[in-house]
Amino acid sequence: MSRTLAIIKPDATERHLIGHITNRIERARFKIVEMRIVHLTDEQAREFYAVHADKPFINDLVAFMTSGPVVPMALEKENAVEDFRTLIGATNPENAACGTIRWEIGRNIEKNSVHGSDSDENAAREIAFFFGD
Ligand code: ATP
Ligand code: MG
Repeated sequence: MSRTLAIIKPDATERHLIGHITNRIERARFKIVEMRIVHLTDEQAREFYAVHADKPFINDLVAFMTSGPVVPMALEKENAVEDFRTLIGATNPENAACGTIRWEIGRNIEKNSVHGSDSDENAAREIAFFFGD
């Protein structure tokens, strides 16, 4: 078993899609082992997305991620990181594979409804960020 960190982003919580997304996650055989609803501060969003600190879109991304509640979750499954990235699809919903969560409900490259860790190392760091060790 391995773990990944998922976040339901503000564009999805605003549209009352928490239940829809958690349902899709459970139907894909992920076990939700931790879950909270939080409103990130500017400082927390910058820390979480520190790898993107130098990107041109960082200020917009932080503004978006602090614009409403988000739902971080620790998910458990064999091959959790890769399988969850498969379930959510490409960063830009326009390029996301048919049937993926971003294809279904993502609005654009920024407001793409869900986050998924991109490696086991980052999953551990991101789970600790929200839920401790
Ligand atoms: P996430 O880390 O949220 O799972 P990702 O790994 O698919 O997404 P990253 O490259 O890590 O994509 O980008 C992090 C987030 O920054 C994206 O999910 C999106 O919300 C935003 N983002 C990425 N690229 C752009 C861009 N070119 N313009 C605006 N926002 C962007
Ligand atoms: Mg990423």
